Amino acid sequence: MFIWGWNTKAIGQSETGLTCSHCGRKGLVVITMQTFLNVFWIPTFPMRKSSSVVCSNCRTVSRPDAYRLDECHINRSQKTPWWGFSGLVLIAALLGGAAIFSVYESEQTNTYLQDLHKGDLIIVKGRINDRTAYSYLKVQDVQGETLSVYESKYAFSREGDALSEAKKAHVRRELSEESSQMSKEDLKKMNISSIKRP
Ligand SMILES: [Zn+2]
Repeated sequence: MFIWGWNTKAIGQSETGLTCSHCGRKGLVVITMQTFLNVFWIPTFPMRKSSSVVCSNCRTVSRPDAYRLDECHINRSQKTPWWGFSGLVLIAALLGGAAIFSVYESEQTNTYLQDLHKGDLIIVKGRINDRTAYSYLKVQDVQGETLSVYESKYAFSREGDALSEAKKAHVRRELSEESSQMSKEDLKKMNISSIKRP
């Protein structure tokens, strides 16, 4: 579920030195508020700003133009606080984390590929009827440059599904009855998506 909403927070205030037309005392303060689009309660996109003049003595609230103050100018001079972008920073961090994880995974796949073990699960990407499909191989034995593998009987539209089935596939039902032989060279020519070592 994607939860979003708006809220408005004070982002700054400044003294005006002006006299309140209501109570006649000095102490008028300009308070600038800003609306934020929140995603999961985290301010993500800073939006509209608005400013009001508040008397610190009698609490009367007025529009800035009542005191000939330029609201647009005031709004511009109050910078959006850094936390107004928290959601964007978090999203960027998550994407960065995902990118680092994917680099780590592909490094690991390469390492496994250089030295395959019995039980390794090799997820292979291919195409069936013009659509991406994932299947998997399970390494049964490694003899020098020759591998003996079981092949999955089924293909999956998502890599994650192929992987979770591959992990359950010690039950031979999902795999070919007989293992087949292939050279490591042939394997490397395949479009290997990932290798998992249980
Ligand atoms: Zn006042």
